[in-house]
Amino acid sequence: MSHAQGYAAQSAETPFAPFRFDRRELRANDLRIDILFCGVCHSDLHTARGEWPGTVYPCVPGHEILGRVSAVGPEVTGFEQGEIVGVGCLVDSCLQCPSCGEGLEQFCENGFTGTYNGADRVTGENTLGGYSDHIVVRQEFVLKIRHSEEQLAAVAPLLCAGITTWSPLRHWQVGPGSKVGIVGIGGLGHMGVKLASALGANVVAFTTSPSKREEALRLGASEVIVSRDADEMGAHMGSFDFILNTVAAPHDLDPYVSLLKRDGTMVLVGVPAEAHPSPSVGNLVFGRRSIAGSLIGGIAETQEMLDFCAEHGITSEIEMIAMHEIEEAYRRMTASDVKYRFVIDMATLDKAA
Ligand code: NAP
Ligand code: ZN
Repeated sequence: MSHAQGYAAQSAETPFAPFRFDRRELRANDLRIDILFCGVCHSDLHTARGEWPGTVYPCVPGHEILGRVSAVGPEVTGFEQGEIVGVGCLVDSCLQCPSCGEGLEQFCENGFTGTYNGADRVTGENTLGGYSDHIVVRQEFVLKIRHSEEQLAAVAPLLCAGITTWSPLRHWQVGPGSKVGIVGIGGLGHMGVKLASALGANVVAFTTSPSKREEALRLGASEVIVSRDADEMGAHMGSFDFILNTVAAPHDLDPYVSLLKRDGTMVLVGVPAEAHPSPSVGNLVFGRRSIAGSLIGGIAETQEMLDFCAEHGITSEIEMIAMHEIEEAYRRMTASDVKYRFVIDMATLDKAA
């Protein structure tokens, strides 16, 4: 066992506070990773605040983990001590079912193990995530990082925001000639704009925040629509091949479905605490349009996305925070006031706490 220092929520109502706990002894194929940076995902907030059912407390969130390998188990073959690595939303799965066999560990038919708020497959203990000084993960769920050292803080958000937008863009074959809408320009959405535009698509960003208009253009959108403006929305009726909706709050989906072409698809990745109002059936039927969902991405696909980003110089737009600033970061995230991802500098974790 190794003693770990982190930040935990003890209940849905309690503010985060320093928390000491133990990480498991290395199993034969485990790595111990000293965490340098951890991104702050809206899923961390949904979980820590009990907005989704099933949070186990104490809760240590964090699944955009960037760190350095500090120890390896005897059967580790692909990694060495001192190497820079990443860990995303998954730390284990059965690796035997058909979905795992296809590299879709996020759809493991025996249930994947989340980086936090999951059950360890051996001990059943609640998993604790990246708001901490180190983590122990089996090597199959650790990612290689090929970006340069100075980019590392801005690479952390690729481990969730990057792969969650990359996976549907690839699955629905977005590329040159596609007209793609990205709805909600937050952590996920801003990566969606960057990645869809790097894949060659014509990208239109939809935001409720007029202050994000200029930046969304800089990120790669050819046009930015303030979604509360019905005229701006109306100008694009029936013209999109694909829309990726990242919004973390319930909203009317119909105006977006109306923007799809015949056979177009809107993929929902945002998982609001309350349901969206039911979309109109007629809007789907007349035009054979689809609403679909997508969950993060598999490990091989995450590596593919990281390598693509390293090759194309793509990172996240970040605002670095100290660990004790997490409550304020959550408050601002709830107010859509993040440009575009908070990343915790783990050097600020108070060891003495
Ligand atoms: P985020 O950084 O808070 O961004 C969400 C964005 O949605 C906001 O910046 C805002 O963008 C827009 N928005 C917020 N409230 C809105 C409202 N009431 N009406 C319309 N737009 C609103 O969150 P995130 O980290 O990107 O996560 C987004 C969602 O995806 C969360 O629900 C999260 O749990 C989920 N998620 C899902 C997966 C998956 O695998 N499916 C993975 C990770 C996260 P504008 O200011 O541009 O309007
Ligand atoms: Zn996430």
